[in-house]
Amino acid sequence: MRASYCENTTDREFCRLIEHELYHIGVERDEDGEPIYSDHTGLPKHYLAGHDVEVFFGETKRWGADESVKRLLEIAKNAPFVSETNIAACCGNCVIG
Ligand SMILES: [Zn+2]
Repeated sequence: MRASYCENTTDREFCRLIEHELYHIGVERDEDGEPIYSDHTGLPKHYLAGHDVEVFFGETKRWGADESVKRLLEIAKNAPFVSETNIAACCGNCVIG
């Protein structure tokens, strides 16, 4: 994250950016879905998680929406959990939980 961006952005954009970056923190899991712990630290191992949807507009235009794009379309139909008022009052994650 660039400090200059954070300094000059709206509260909404800043909160969205923070949440975006937190989603990039993935926990490594075994084939049963259990977290993998480091032998060194005893803490869960992490990796840089990719985005839920990574596709080109032209790809979707030519070949149609894949499952991740279809899911995104369903999610986008609903109003966001967090309004401008919520952001001004507190962290949006409190509202979601
Ligand atoms: Zn990202």
